[in-house]
Amino acid sequence: MSEGERLTELAKRRGFYFPSSSAYGGAAGFWTYGPQGAALKSNIEDAWRDRYVVKEGHQEISAPDVMPEPVFEASGHLDGFDDMIVECGECGATHRADHLVEDNTDIEEAESLPNEEVMDLIAEHGIECPSCHTSLADQPVDNFNLMFETNIGPGSSSPGYLRPETAQGIFVEFPQLSEYARNQLPFGVAQIGKAYRNEISPRKSLVRVREFTQAELEHFIDPEENEPPLAEVEDVVLPLYSVADQQAEDGGQRELTVREAVDDGVVESEWVAYYLGVSKEWYERIGVDMDRFRYRQHLAGERAHYASDCWDAESEVDGDWIEITGFAYRGDYDLSKHADHSGEDYTVFKQYDEPITVERATVDPDMSYLGPEFGGSAGAVADALEALAERNPDAFDDDEVTVEVDGESHTVPVEQTNFSVDEVTENGEHIRPHVIEPSFGVGRIIYTVLAHAYETDEVDGEERTYLDLPPEQAPTTVGVFPLMDKDGMAELATDIAGDLRAAGLSVTYDDSGAIGRRYRRQDEVGTPYCVTVDYESLEDGGEAQRASESASGDEPRAGTVTVRERDTTEQKRLPIDGLAETLEQLSTGDRTFDDL
Ligand code: ATP
Repeated sequence: MSEGERLTELAKRRGFYFPSSSAYGGAAGFWTYGPQGAALKSNIEDAWRDRYVVKEGHQEISAPDVMPEPVFEASGHLDGFDDMIVECGECGATHRADHLVEDNTDIEEAESLPNEEVMDLIAEHGIECPSCHTSLADQPVDNFNLMFETNIGPGSSSPGYLRPETAQGIFVEFPQLSEYARNQLPFGVAQIGKAYRNEISPRKSLVRVREFTQAELEHFIDPEENEPPLAEVEDVVLPLYSVADQQAEDGGQRELTVREAVDDGVVESEWVAYYLGVSKEWYERIGVDMDRFRYRQHLAGERAHYASDCWDAESEVDGDWIEITGFAYRGDYDLSKHADHSGEDYTVFKQYDEPITVERATVDPDMSYLGPEFGGSAGAVADALEALAERNPDAFDDDEVTVEVDGESHTVPVEQTNFSVDEVTENGEHIRPHVIEPSFGVGRIIYTVLAHAYETDEVDGEERTYLDLPPEQAPTTVGVFPLMDKDGMAELATDIAGDLRAAGLSVTYDDSGAIGRRYRRQDEVGTPYCVTVDYESLEDGGEAQRASESASGDEPRAGTVTVRERDTTEQKRLPIDGLAETLEQLSTGDRTFDDL
């Protein structure tokens, strides 16, 4: 069984995730997170929020999943959000053409190749349809738009799309969001939410799905003035796989500190380097195995034309590298596109330290001349004159000035334009912020964390499977068991479970089956600690204590329980009194099990 298959089996059996709607045959690319998975997902999202929103001092929003068509016309998704598709002439199955090439050749990033070249490679390597094994040679490689389309309201006059990334919900609202940030750059806006892509071939369970959760941050900066707090992460060591290393015969990844990566020019943007450093520490915190992790720079063909520096965080599972996060310096592309398409103001007013005096050329065209002369185009001619005066005042040096409107030249006597150059005092200017975007795929991170946490060992002569998840991420922090359901043990255990829950810990109570089996169940979902109430707990005074508590209220308990640590299976006897605090300290790393 491959690592991925083993994981998918455990995920279904223990309630992490499983294919959705299987009662009706299911639909590929849709997964339901079960109780363990939903808890793990929300813990990972909380850890993300803590690092990228709270610690960075950014804002978080929640925008709709459905957005109207003009948003995606502006963003470029309507025209360009395509993957390469090839359809089998025999069975009609459709496949992602670039992936077929990657799976059957040594080529790693076929996505960056033109369609014709991918078609040639399919023929050259005799690639067959994975469904019916008919040759795919000579089948056309076409583009397929990945967006799910819908209609907003009845009828089809108002098309909408399920967002293919959460980012557009931030970009579109920039003017409003900028006000909330008091128009002060830099500021960041984050969002955790669903994204939808009608993937051609969903595969590898959570890795390529059609509905998934993204955690995206758009950090808006003034490129002239703002610098990242690089010193905070300058010593973090990054495993970097640059374009040069990818292209070199014997190239492999290199370990450089954030500072070295910037100084050596391996990572071009200091902002991107900053987030690579922050994120490396974050991945470690949530349980990504750093021996199976790298940052890979985009090859020229992979990178969007507007993005100057792009790196992917990749994790290794089953010998394959999976993109779990994309980091991009996107310049002012997104805000410019929305400004152009909507006509709204997507700039920030940048106040100068001191007002400055500048010469400003202006026109005030005489409409009683332009009107009769240019008819319906008069307004456009006036706008063109205004723009020309701003751009090139020298054009007004002669007696006449010529502007183009809709490909037609119009000549106007300069005296009719009321051209003048005046000295004006300016307090600032409108600038278009640049944006740095780290874009995390939550499902792929969950898949990675689970795969990297999967361990087996031998306990009491039997093979054991356990997940060595960091306690902070584990779906359940404590399993509470009565050794047996008699003599008051269940009552005391229920009581303890209630107290631990009241203290904010995530607790599972389990009284079914042999104690060894209960431990195994918790091991398999990565519960770091198990508390068992036994006869000694009662003898130690737990029972008596309960009685006295109900009589007197809040006196401390004298009894003890066993606490078992997941990875070592070591057990210690600890007092019930203060148990919640001890477990809390263990799970946050403030205390170790050895110290107890
Ligand atoms: P890929 O090349 O694998 O299709 P991408 O480069 O299109 O991914 P981005 O647009 O950069 O991905 O999206 C950001 C993140 O969202 C990715 O790093 C990934 O973690 C996640 N993601 C993208 N597509 C999917 C998908 N179909 N299923 C699960 N996660 C996805």
